[in-house]
Amino acid sequence: MSTDHDLGTILPGLEALYRDLHRHPELAFQETRTAATAARRMRALGFDVTEKVGVTGVVAVLRNGAGPTVLLRADMDALPIREETGLPWASRERSTDERGLDSPVMHACGHDVHVTALIGACELLTRRRDAWRGTVVAVFQPGEESGLGARRMLEDGLLERFPEPDILLGQHVSPAPHGTVAHCPGVLLGATDVLTVRLFGRGGHGSRPESAVDPVVMAASLVLRLQTVVSREVSPRESAVVTVGTLSAGTTPGAIPAEAELSVNIRSFAPAVRAKVMAAVERRIQAEAVAAGAPREPEIVPLYRLPVTANHPASTERVIAAHAAEFGPRAVHRTGPQSASEDFGLLAEAAARPSVYWFIGGTAPAVFARAVVAGTVERDVPHNHAPTFAPVPRPTLATGVRALATAALVWLGPGTTEPGVP
Ligand code: ZN
Ligand code: ZN
Repeated sequence: MSTDHDLGTILPGLEALYRDLHRHPELAFQETRTAATAARRMRALGFDVTEKVGVTGVVAVLRNGAGPTVLLRADMDALPIREETGLPWASRERSTDERGLDSPVMHACGHDVHVTALIGACELLTRRRDAWRGTVVAVFQPGEESGLGARRMLEDGLLERFPEPDILLGQHVSPAPHGTVAHCPGVLLGATDVLTVRLFGRGGHGSRPESAVDPVVMAASLVLRLQTVVSREVSPRESAVVTVGTLSAGTTPGAIPAEAELSVNIRSFAPAVRAKVMAAVERRIQAEAVAAGAPREPEIVPLYRLPVTANHPASTERVIAAHAAEFGPRAVHRTGPQSASEDFGLLAEAAARPSVYWFIGGTAPAVFARAVVAGTVERDVPHNHAPTFAPVPRPTLATGVRALATAALVWLGPGTTEPGVP
């Protein structure tokens, strides 16, 4: 579709909205301000809006005649990271997370881009409602970073209370040149397992280690030993990642604490590799406790699990063709699987419907090109979750809005297939 005129009209307002959301980031399941903003904007566009779906989620529905139902999803939450972009719209917010820890908060993953782009795409679609038929379900999802947001919305009846989707579409901003879109027909993002591990020792005086069993030493040794799971047990032709993301023990220098707690994050792409890595991680945890003479077996609690995000190949090819027509073929790239994870896959899995998820670039093309020439992309282009992550607002939003609206029209626009036939 030719979106230039309408897009030009709405972009200044969207950019202001983006800066406002960026200044006021909210952690998982605390997105009340963001959700209220999204709900207000969607009501103004004529959508039927339901709030508090899965704690802070928002679902907005627009029925526009008989036709397919397209679910468009944006995540809303920010991260406990201190912003270091130095931008005029940088966040100075702080918040308390679910563990009671106070921290600076930042939209370091660009979910503010996703929320703004979804509102913008819905505005474009409402302006062009004579050009399509069907139903749009816009989902503003909480808690993606916690891994629990999609699950909470499903538990709260996302697929029962609202029109059942024929196709699910989502996107994520990435450290690539703005104006570009990257697709991957097939498995795009890995599966994630997060475990909380408690190692039990015996507390005592720091001067008398012989009377204690030290869980700090156990934990330190376990962290290193876990790094041999992938390097020694996974074939070089397969891939997996094991990361210890948090580690805590002790309250005072003079004492050996009674326990230590770690969180372990496991990424994988194939079920067999996942099973092997999970077993190897558990074996090392148990063995470490045995080696130290721990008085109790460790406690291993699965915190959450996310499936792979697998794009439906035929539907992805249709979106690629539409994006190539919209942006020009040179702006549309194909990418391989990424080790990051998403809970978008849970929505598609629960709906048992095809889904397509893609990346939009957010980096100034000149910055990216310089880094490519210097071979310093990893170092010099701020990536998601870095305190310096700063998508260039207007062109990034323009691409996000066009990419989402164009993809929705693949199903909703004239001459498309029957509902349920992707
Ligand atoms: Zn993230
Ligand atoms: Zn993200």
